[in-house]
Formats: sequence, structure tokens, C-alpha cells
Amino acid sequence: MATAWIPFLEGRYSPTLDMWPIEAKEFNRIYKFYENLREGKFTTTKCKNCGKIAYPPRVICPECYSDELEWIELPKKGKVIVVVEKWGGVPICYEPPLIDAWIDLGKNSPVKRILSRVINCAPGTLKEGDEVQLAVFDVPPHPIELKKETITVQRVFFAFEPVKKS
Ligand SMILES: [Zn+2]
Repeated sequence: MATAWIPFLEGRYSPTLDMWPIEAKEFNRIYKFYENLREGKFTTTKCKNCGKIAYPPRVICPECYSDELEWIELPKKGKVIVVVEKWGGVPICYEPPLIDAWIDLGKNSPVKRILSRVINCAPGTLKEGDEVQLAVFDVPPHPIELKKETITVQRVFFAFEPVKKS
């Protein structure tokens, strides 16, 4: 089930779950988030003016409206707090269930907890306290219009996945 213009990736990606589906730098000042992901870094923004740390990353501080922001790194591992398996209302291109979890990034993390999709785990297996890690994957390149030209955007997206127990 593939539709032109919408990148599908074996049920792993949907533009409807992407914070910024068009993240080419020509269109989106948040593209640095994705460049960092590509390097394996999980990042967000911190306001240079008031120190407010926001997640997801912003282009303007939600506290003082400054646009002087810097990128900071977040932990790439965390522990599951709550799991939600969605069987209904799943976005097009996914096979249910869609597994989301609130993830505790630890007390030393600038952002204490985040909500993320969890992949590479069977339904019913993820539970509170499980360790999960950042998983970055390529999204099929897709064309966008730029100054009357069509360019192909290479991009990545992320989810979390269970840390394999040895
Ligand atoms: Zn601020």
C-alpha cells in the first residue's frame, strides 16, 4: 500500500506521527534535529536567554519567545513508565497495534520523560520498567518542490526499541 508523496516504511513511519514531516532545511528550521539523529544523537533545544528546555525542539522559546536557542543532547536510553497499545484509530500505513510509551530518561536528563513510539517489540511484551533505546532509521527519500524544481529529500526518523537482554 504505497501512495505517491507519502513515505511508507514497512509500517514504521507515517507523516502523521512526524513532528515536522517536511524537514528539509529549506523549509524547516528544526532540520538540525534530524541531522543530529542521523549522527545518532537525540537532541532538543535550550533557550540561551532564559534557559528553558523544550521537548520537542522549538524554533522559538515557549517561555520568553526568544529565538536564540541552542541544541543539547538527551540520553538515548530510558525506562518505560507506561505503555499504550493502540488497536483502533491507527494512522494509515500501520498495522495495529501502534505501541507508544512514556519513557523516563533519568533524573540527570534535561528532559525527564518523553512520549515515543516503540518499535521492534511484539504486542503485549513491553512493560513498566523495561529499558528502551533510541532507534534511528531511514525514511524513503521523497520529492519536494523547491523554487519550481523538484528535489529529493533524504531523511531519517526515530522511535525507541527495547534494549535486548543478553
Ligand atoms: Zn527563553
